[in-house]
Amino acid sequence: GHATSPGAHWINRFAQLPARFHTRLQAQGLPDPHWVITSDDCAALLGWPTDWWQAAAPAEQASALAVFSGQTRWPGMDPLATVYSGHQFGHWAGQLGDGRALWLGELQGPEGPLELQLKGAGRTPYSRMGDGRAVLRSSLREFLASEAMHHLGIPTTRALCLTGSALPVRRERVETAAVLTRVAPSFLRFGHFEHFCHHGQHDDLRTLLDFVLQHLMPGCRARPDPALAVLEEVTRLSADLVAQWQAVGFCHGVLNTDNMSLLGLTLDYGPFGFLDGYDPQHICNHSDERGRYAYAAQPNIVWWNLHALAQALLPLVGSGQGEETDILALQEVLGRFAPHFQARTQALWRAKLGLRQAEEEDATLVSDWLALLAAERVDFTIAHRRLSAYDPAEPSTLTPLRDLFVAPQGLHAWAQRLADRVAREGLPGPQRLAAMRACNPKYVLRNHLAELAIRDAEVGDFGFLQRLHQVLRRPFEEQPEHEALAGFPPDWAGQLCVSCSS
Ligand code: AMP
Ligand code: MG
Ligand code: MG
Repeated sequence: GHATSPGAHWINRFAQLPARFHTRLQAQGLPDPHWVITSDDCAALLGWPTDWWQAAAPAEQASALAVFSGQTRWPGMDPLATVYSGHQFGHWAGQLGDGRALWLGELQGPEGPLELQLKGAGRTPYSRMGDGRAVLRSSLREFLASEAMHHLGIPTTRALCLTGSALPVRRERVETAAVLTRVAPSFLRFGHFEHFCHHGQHDDLRTLLDFVLQHLMPGCRARPDPALAVLEEVTRLSADLVAQWQAVGFCHGVLNTDNMSLLGLTLDYGPFGFLDGYDPQHICNHSDERGRYAYAAQPNIVWWNLHALAQALLPLVGSGQGEETDILALQEVLGRFAPHFQARTQALWRAKLGLRQAEEEDATLVSDWLALLAAERVDFTIAHRRLSAYDPAEPSTLTPLRDLFVAPQGLHAWAQRLADRVAREGLPGPQRLAAMRACNPKYVLRNHLAELAIRDAEVGDFGFLQRLHQVLRRPFEEQPEHEALAGFPPDWAGQLCVSCSS
């Protein structure tokens, strides 16, 4: 049976907020569900054993498959959908909310309380025109990406499991339904604050702030102005997050304020993508015609989104000296985004280049490197991995990197500058390259890899999906038996079209 009875420790703090924050409802489960994939790593966060999903349930308890396909619930779960609003593509979008996400409750895990959420378990009062469902294709992408991001060391919501069914779901074509179970310390979004501010519900805004202070950011509680302290914390977390996205070539695709986590987690994987050939203007979301959320635009967009959050927090800032002073205080906090992002970015890129000491020329060394990649659209992941094999003491180790370029003269000149730096630092070559391999991944979830897993999964074969999941758990390690998954994208990858449809 279960080592921990899943019913035992539900705490459900968000459910205790007033009814204006959510609507209680039951999931509309999948008919005749089956398992698609599970994550032992995520189960461990909950203190569950690796066989949790197949362990025989105690007689009085429904099976994990029935629960995580939305058919039923365990005692202690208190399912609800939350309300939020937000800005989409730069415009106020009004009320949005959990249109197909269902909050199951909170469990006390070994490292702290965690929320569990079903995605795709049917309509809610916030579904608007949507059907409340999620298709296997996009759910599988979110499952893999959540777990892969975690193993890249980047903050993200997690994925516990994915269940599927033959239930047809209409998108551009007819697909089949799936239910993803997500796990995070909190799924609160910037949009939760924006919602109550927009409607002038300042008491509710205060309640939400108190919830955050009590449960998520206790360090901000004792600060002279807790609302400012929360903005400062979210600004720092968000700057850290987007710096890490840029360093690994991740494009979120839909950075609307309702997809921005208050905890600085990567949230709501939709038309995301990892860069193949390096193009700073790359747009991964085919619905994003103007490139608002292009790779290079992400840091500015995150900053823009933080302004929307600051606006929503304004009624809670209490200098006692009037709104002008409160606005200046918020602006001062927002102003810390750029220096923090820059410092974090420089540190990440120094590590990617195998440098330890900060020097004046770091920023140009990095931007010149990226300009070389951009000029020939060199593969971002492969270039950094091959750079991690270049030891200036052994000039021949530049060859695999040089072979990525049609015209390598610029690279040779740049490599000489890097060699001068490396010589000044005096770190032993093998040690330096090992450190580089530990931050320049060999394996990332490229679109074509996800697509191969989707094609097989749609005909009931989850073998490649499981293999990919396992490989992405060790993205920085050489895995010779999986070398093919670290290769260049095939020609057809350029034709893949990933949109908001999910
Ligand atoms: P997204 O851009 O995927 O983050 O979704 C924006 C909003 O649309 C959120 O409020 C979602 O809950 C909602 N939504 C997206 N797809 C569906 C769907 N199939 N059914 C109901 N609501 C949806
Ligand atoms: Mg969303
Ligand atoms: Mg005020």
